Amino acid sequence: MRTAIFPGSFDPFTVGHKSIVERGCRLFDKVIVAVGINSNKRCRRSVEQRLKDIRDVFRDNPKVEVASYSGLTVEFARSTGAGFILRGVREVKDFEYERNLADVNSSISDIETVFLCAEPELSFISSSMVRELESFGFDVSRFIAR
Ligand code: ADP
Repeated sequence: MRTAIFPGSFDPFTVGHKSIVERGCRLFDKVIVAVGINSNKRCRRSVEQRLKDIRDVFRDNPKVEVASYSGLTVEFARSTGAGFILRGVREVKDFEYERNLADVNSSISDIETVFLCAEPELSFISSSMVRELESFGFDVSRFIAR
């Protein structure tokens, strides 16, 4: 069984994230959305809230599981039996960051990283942009996955 984890902060889980998971489901038998707990990052939503929201999005998709983890992403991947890390790439800046992360992870484990390019119409959407709009009281519902 081919399993991938899709790690991230998902604060919040956007339509861009959802698209990567759905496309990942065509490549893998199982995709585990992995909410990383990072004490250095101040998040707007609690981990519990993010887990609940993401589970709601995929309630009818039996290929998707949702979990939280702390520590090294490759160790979490290994603990679930996943051989792959799924990541989305929006632009060149993402690519440089993601390639470096993938190189580090492949040097310390046998986990392969698979990149999917963002859908063009979703490539401007980021969690940080959504949080910023929210902070001004703007209705961000169009960007949040449901
Ligand atoms: P992190 O905090 O690890 O950067 P994010 O929650 O911001 O994680 O994003 C998780 C993954 O989703 C990353 O690989 C990121 O590049 C990807 N991603 C974020 N927004 C989009 C989008 N609009 N389209 C495609 N991929 C995206």
